[in-house]
Order: sequence, then structure tokens, then C-alpha cells
Amino acid sequence: MDFGRSKSKFQEVPETGVTFADVAGADQAKLELQEVVDFLKNPDKYTALGAKIPKGCLLVGPPGTGKTLLARAVAGEAGVPFFSCAASEFVELFVGVGASRVRDLFEKAKSKAPCIVFIDEIDAVGRQRGAGLGGGNDEREQTINQLLTEMDGFSGNSGVIVLAATNRPDVLDSALLRPGRFDRQVTVDRPDVAGRVKILQVHSRGKALAKDVDFEKIARRTPGFTGADLQNLMNEAAILAARRDLKEISKDEISDALERIIAGPEKKNAVVSEEKKRLVAYHVGALMPEYDPVAKISIIPRGQAGGLTFFAPSEERLESGLYSRSYLENQMAVALGGRVAEEVIFGADNVTTGASNDFMQVSRVARQMVERFGFSKKIGQVAIGGPGGNPFLGQQMSSQKDYSMATADVVDAEVRELVDKAYARAKEIITTHIDILHKLAQLLIEKETVDGEEFMSLFIDGKAELYVA
Ligand code: ADP
Repeated sequence: MDFGRSKSKFQEVPETGVTFADVAGADQAKLELQEVVDFLKNPDKYTALGAKIPKGCLLVGPPGTGKTLLARAVAGEAGVPFFSCAASEFVELFVGVGASRVRDLFEKAKSKAPCIVFIDEIDAVGRQRGAGLGGGNDEREQTINQLLTEMDGFSGNSGVIVLAATNRPDVLDSALLRPGRFDRQVTVDRPDVAGRVKILQVHSRGKALAKDVDFEKIARRTPGFTGADLQNLMNEAAILAARRDLKEISKDEISDALERIIAGPEKKNAVVSEEKKRLVAYHVGALMPEYDPVAKISIIPRGQAGGLTFFAPSEERLESGLYSRSYLENQMAVALGGRVAEEVIFGADNVTTGASNDFMQVSRVARQMVERFGFSKKIGQVAIGGPGGNPFLGQQMSSQKDYSMATADVVDAEVRELVDKAYARAKEIITTHIDILHKLAQLLIEKETVDGEEFMSLFIDGKAELYVA
């Protein structure tokens, strides 16, 4: 058995063939990385002035935003070889294997300098030491120590530049970030609308697209999508078109692929009784106060849901990540609208369990408003209840409470009051506009899906100041 022997786990690409032109959007990151290209191409310019060329640069951003692609493009632009590995692969069961893999990697890289070494998911080995469960992890520590030794060892001008990717710069060991190591950071964010249009263009090269495909519209419907998500979207659309025996990908395939990605595939063969259809139609169709515009309402079951409304959240809000008090109150009313509609239409005795997800969402929002956002008069402008994640990003909230039982009672009462208020509001709006709800439900039962434009046409002046739950 070869205990402790390392099989090399890195990839070597002599020429990546990728350039900055292959990376759509990400203009700021490209600008900053242009400098690295220049270090590799013209090192003498810097050494002549006595400058030390940086050795490491951290690419920071969520998965799928193109960090690997950018690293390959840097190598491609500079015309140097590209060595890459995932940090998680360094670490194996046997102590010492990771370190020897790091040694191998750098030995090879130095022999091929100038070159780029790319380490993906550096946080897998580079976490703050001793921060993991059960204290230290020998194997990880040895691996990271070896990485530091290598980076300290080669002189700044050896021609090896290390790019490392992470989504969590905050958990990295500060030793990694010291001058002479990963002392530069380039942020790679999720693309904005303009960036998404460009990425869609890149990933439709070589695909047969129908004339009705409008990238601008797709981009508007995909806030939060990364480059990888958009690539996947276009590919899924192409597969759908093939399955439908089409010669071109039309806007319908893209739209269907998008809904599949967001909400899971439609359950085409599910038998839905007329009665259930009616129930779901009223549930998803409940009229609600000002909220994100409706993209589509559907009573075709998907995933866990009997039916769904797709909203088109505004770009601005998604980007700022800021939610106003009234937006959150509306969000609660929207989520409660389904239950309210059931109650109003079918009677209090006939409400169903269909709203349980809605209730969970409502309670979570209300609790956050009280505990974290300072939206409760009685609790005041403080954050209580321990560190919490951002519920809008689907992060886990801590269940640890750092306040007294007396405070807990006040919190519960405040949460209840917010929810009751939202419920009363939903009820008032629905009873006032019951005729439109009937029209919408009728349309849904007939057609099963209603798009944003059809929805708007239900309103007399074609302008919906009311949206749906
Ligand atoms: P990361 O390393 O940040 O997780 P990747 O670079 O592996 O992301 O991206 C995965 C794929 O998504 C890429 O190979 C590319 O096809 C696509 N992609 C991501 N960002 C972009 C972009 N800005 N332009 C074009 N394609 C992109």
C-alpha cells in the first residue's frame, strides 16, 4: 500500500484557449485581472522599477459566477499554462497526502513558469484554523501550511501567480491573506440585467434560435441567476426543443425551461379533480396589494405545490437586498391571500391545509421583522435572538435565543400582531375586489395558465394596482 504517496490531483492545460471575450459581463473583474495578465506578460517592466509582483489573488463570489472561467481567461490572455485543482481534493484520509500534493503541484508549476495556478474552493482547506468541529484538523493544517510555505518560498518574480476561488472570504485563515500571499481580492458578482443579456448571447452561439426569442425579456425574468444558471437554462431549452421535434428554440421552450428550473417539472399526468382545480385557482388567484409584478399564474401542479404564481421581482430590490417595511407587510399579506380566498369563497369550515407553506413563510418574515429589522415598537431598534441568516437567501436562521422569557412573550405578541394585521388587510382587499378574483379563477380553470399580460387585461384600465397571491 502506498500510504502517504500522493497521486497528483491537479490538471495541467498548456493553452486554455479562453480569453476575456469569452467571459460576458464581469467588466470590473476583467479590468482588475488585466493587471495580472500584464504581470505575466511583462514582468520586466515591474522588476526594473524594483516592484514585487503579487503572488496570489483571491476571486470572491458565489458558485457559477465564472471564477474558474476568468482564471482560465487570465492564462489564455497571457498565453501561459494553467494548472488547476480543487482544494477539497488535497485533503484525504491520510495525514500528509494533502501537503505532498501541494508540493507536487508547485514543483510542476515552477518548472513551467510563467504560469497560473488555480485553486478552487480554497475555503475547504483554508478555514480559520481550529474553527472546525472538534478543534484542529491535522491534515488540513498541514496542507494549508504547505501552501503557505510554497507561496512564501518562491520569490515574487518567479512567474507563478496563484488564483484562488472562494465564496466565503470571511472564514479564511488570516494567514492566507497576509501581504505576499493572497493579498488581492477580485469580486465576481452575480450578473445584472445587462450582464445576463450578454451571457445569454454567449451561450446561444451555435444554437438555432427562433426570431421571437428576446434576451432582454429573459434577462428580466432571471434576476439572481449566475452565468452557470443561464448556460443551464439555454441548454435545457435546447433539449426541450429537440424533444418537441422542433428545428429552432423558441421563446416557449426557454420559458418552460425557466419554470422547470425555478419550480421543478410540471406534473403532467397528475389527475386533478375539477373541485381541486377550483380550490387552487382561488388560492393562487387571490388579489393582493402592491407587490412584485406577476409574470405568470398557473394551476398546473409542480413539485410540492398545487399551483403557483411567478413574480418578477424588481432588479433594483434584488440587487440592493433591501426590503422596506411596507414591502414585507405586503409579502405577508400576499402569502396569506390564498387562505383568505379559501375562507371567503368556500367558507371558514372548508379551508384546507394548502396554506401550510404560506404560514411558515409568514411567520418567518414576521419574526425577522421583530427580532432583526427593528420594525417592532415594543422591541425597538435592536437586533435580538442571536446571529441570524438572511431568510431571503434561504439561509438558516439561528434558533438560539439570547433574550429572557419576558422578552420572548413580547416578541410572540408582536409577531402575532403583525400577522393578524396582514390577515385582516388581505381579507379586506379580497372582499373589496371579489369580482376580479372570480374572473381570474374562471380564466385559470379554463386555461390553467395565465400570463402577466392576460392578468393585466382583467383590470378595466389595464393597469393592475392589485396583484395576486
Ligand atoms: P465558478 O468557478 O464561479 O463556480 P465557473 O467559471 O465554473 O463558475 O462557471 C461555470 C460555467 O458557467 C462556465 O463554464 C461558463 O460556461 C458559464 N459562465 C459563468 N459565468 C459566465 C460569464 N460571465 N460569461 C459566460 N459564461 C459564464
